[in-house]
Amino acid sequence: MVLQHNITSLLVAFTIGMLMPCTMGSSSSQGTEAVNDFSGLHWGYAMRDTDELPPALWGKLYPACAGKRQSPIAINSREPRQLDLLLRPLELLFYDQMPIAGNWTLIDNGHSVQISGQFGKRPPSLRIRRGNLRTTYVLTQLHFHWGRSDAMGSEHVIDGKRYPIEVHFVHRKETITDDEASKDPMGLAVVAVIFEKSSAGSREMPNPQMEALANAVRLIKTLNVPVTVRTPELRLSKLIPDDPAYFQYLGSLTTPPCAESVVWNVMKTPLKVTEQQLKAFRALVSRDSSTDREVADNYRPLQSLSGRAIHYHPKAFGSHDRRHNPMEALSNAVRQTKSPNFPVTIKIPNLCLSDLLADAPTYFRYLRLLTTPPCAESLVWSVRMKSVKVTEHQLYSKRQEKVEWKVRA
Ligand SMILES: [Zn+2]
Repeated sequence: MVLQHNITSLLVAFTIGMLMPCTMGSSSSQGTEAVNDFSGLHWGYAMRDTDELPPALWGKLYPACAGKRQSPIAINSREPRQLDLLLRPLELLFYDQMPIAGNWTLIDNGHSVQISGQFGKRPPSLRIRRGNLRTTYVLTQLHFHWGRSDAMGSEHVIDGKRYPIEVHFVHRKETITDDEASKDPMGLAVVAVIFEKSSAGSREMPNPQMEALANAVRLIKTLNVPVTVRTPELRLSKLIPDDPAYFQYLGSLTTPPCAESVVWNVMKTPLKVTEQQLKAFRALVSRDSSTDREVADNYRPLQSLSGRAIHYHPKAFGSHDRRHNPMEALSNAVRQTKSPNFPVTIKIPNLCLSDLLADAPTYFRYLRLLTTPPCAESLVWSVRMKSVKVTEHQLYSKRQEKVEWKVRA
């Protein structure tokens, strides 16, 4: 088992999967038996390489790779059948946290560059939940797929377009082991983010998070030798688009053993990457230094959807980190009001009114009146039983200070 994770350890590490991108280990019990002449081959992406098992033949050594719930897939955002207005927003927890001492570990494993960190109990490990996931998932690692040229590299194709690079944030159900996750149809949840290249001569500032990552990637000199880099400026929350719209479907790991255990969450809006940043990834080498083969075009060909549903909500307003609390967004807005009876229009893109309704749908219903004059008896009240959290700071907004002062005067 390449990937090991001790959930009882004091340090909550997300270092599993150090050697394989998007996999639960190359030596999983699933599909390691030698079959025919393929037994001595290691899997790879080359189509016509004689010493690597090409993607079309992965299933010969790893049977799950020939399954009907495989990834990646092509996504058509305009397909009306995938519209799911009940799809909840994804919620990222603690995604602004730094690992201990700001240290990230990077490794060129010959198939990708993988990034991980160690988190103590404080700060807690990074997690995702909601988004119809049913439970909470802990981040274990992130890694990239990219191409030699700008027209290829991403694994998922959206509206017919393949992008130059795609990052996968791999999460595992927080209550189970890696081995259990690989056998659970929803054991893993991966958030995929695609990047589009900034236009030549663009005056836009390079994405500082990708800049920090590219600088760290340039420090990798040797295959399979981890490099620890102190990059306190790196915040994974900034590697997730502000636009929370995403596609969700049930799929698999995109590398052997291709376990069909992944809930995929593909963010719709691309982030930016520059030519120089892409070059840092394209300079990585696979195998050993004698061959010096570039790691690139490390994306799996598209797999058949085979009747699977893709869920998409065009306005699934999400929430990242502390902003996930709707009262935070509302109290920030209240602080911007200046005087009574003077309306203020404020953009609050991360406010989703459904967040104000507690998850438990239980409520009391009764017929009564308005609670202010004229107290018309025209209301059906539905009072939710479960409360929503609010902090002291949120309650004590600037506007409330003024009102309170007037009353005391
Ligand atoms: Zn991947």
